[in-house]
Amino acid sequence: MKKHFIYYLIFSVILFPAIMSCSDSDGDDNDNPGGGDSNNGTSTLSLNPTTLEFAPKDDGKTFKITTNGDWVITMDASVDWVKLSALKGNGNADVTVTPDENETFSVRSAVLTVKVSTISRKLTVRQEAAPTDPDDPFSTDYLLLKNIPNSAGEQIVAYKMFSTGDAATYDAYTWRLKGSNDGEEWTIVDERAEQSFFARYQEQFYIIETPGEFTQYRLEAIAQYAKTTPRLGEVVLYSQNPVAAWESFGYPVVEYIAESAVAESTGGKQFRSVVQDPVEFMKYHTQKVAEILYYLPGDQMPAVSKVNYKLESWTGSSVADKSGAPPTIQIRFNAKYIGEFSGGKTVQAIVHEMRGVLYHELTHGYQFEPKNCGSYDGSSVYWTFIEGLADAVRADAGLFDNQVQNRKDSSKDSKKWMAGYRTTGYFIQWMKTKDKDAIRKFNRTAKDLETWTWDAAVKAVFPTYTGVEQLWNEYYKEINK
Ligand SMILES: [Zn+2]
Repeated sequence: MKKHFIYYLIFSVILFPAIMSCSDSDGDDNDNPGGGDSNNGTSTLSLNPTTLEFAPKDDGKTFKITTNGDWVITMDASVDWVKLSALKGNGNADVTVTPDENETFSVRSAVLTVKVSTISRKLTVRQEAAPTDPDDPFSTDYLLLKNIPNSAGEQIVAYKMFSTGDAATYDAYTWRLKGSNDGEEWTIVDERAEQSFFARYQEQFYIIETPGEFTQYRLEAIAQYAKTTPRLGEVVLYSQNPVAAWESFGYPVVEYIAESAVAESTGGKQFRSVVQDPVEFMKYHTQKVAEILYYLPGDQMPAVSKVNYKLESWTGSSVADKSGAPPTIQIRFNAKYIGEFSGGKTVQAIVHEMRGVLYHELTHGYQFEPKNCGSYDGSSVYWTFIEGLADAVRADAGLFDNQVQNRKDSSKDSKKWMAGYRTTGYFIQWMKTKDKDAIRKFNRTAKDLETWTWDAAVKAVFPTYTGVEQLWNEYYKEINK
């Protein structure tokens, strides 16, 4: 006992800095995994062994708990592949750990915590990945084959792939693109391993590593799980790099913040089922919004360098809001709203809404602000520009439902272009039917006009018009014919 005690003292001193920096500060004695007598009052606890290794398909294995007290085993709620013969008991015991078959192509591990009174010990469970043929991981019955003709008739240099609305576990995970001219001899032009899509119905672009001249292409893909055929949306081939013009866009740093109670709420879970990686999701949309508001990434625009992306929960009908001003803005999403909105909706409708809200809120980060025309008060000229342009960008991204009927209805709004939100937004977006750069030019008027008015802005974008009234009348007629 004395020897043990001295050992424990030395061990504690060595590990002291580590304990101090450990965030798990609930008083647990975690610094001696599986170890022996810890001199904690009268309770004792040790585990043997402290690591269990499993093959992808394996029988249960047993570890020993040696204790003089009541013990409880816990593990992270996300671990659903480990079964235990007992979760609690008293005194010495053998506990059997049985893993499900690992059908993923990744090694996985879980940590079990055994507690007696205030002492806790940890046991690590580790399981090998599902086997692949080392010579050819694509030799599986669960291969996805997609033939894509080269309709461009030119050399293909890039491609775009869409995820589906199914669970992310069905996504294509590792793939190769092959080209051929006779349908018999195939040449690999691009290979990608362990990819992930950051949202449902998400487009992702890939530049082909070794392009060649081919008349047809074939994509071969496997999923993350060995016994699953991947599901993939549309694959589009490009003979020119479609993302080249915006490659130099400076993404902001994005921090995603969600307290666990919000993350675990109905809306929080719903959000994460359609958005697997909120940081990438936000970054993607910052660029998409900038593309609508500006010609090129080098254009003068508000320098948004940081976005705090918060999932919160509040009562009321508001979906989201934006606060702060560049360089740092904050965008909050209402998890409570997402939960209520999502009931009975398709994945497509939910992700549509998530994107639409982001287009709107991010416009507030990237738009210019009009000068000398009031404040954000729900009725001023300033306010109509701010909210109208945000909904115009959302409409331009195609993210309002039932657009034709909504446009007709909103065009009859008695406040006309001064109504804000959709009524104003649809009007601004319609201007693109007269000039494809109308939204960009309209946004730019906020920077250029010393005193911003609707008449001055319309005349700046459409020099032959007398003012906003004339343009609105034309819009009204066209929408209602
Ligand atoms: Zn807004």
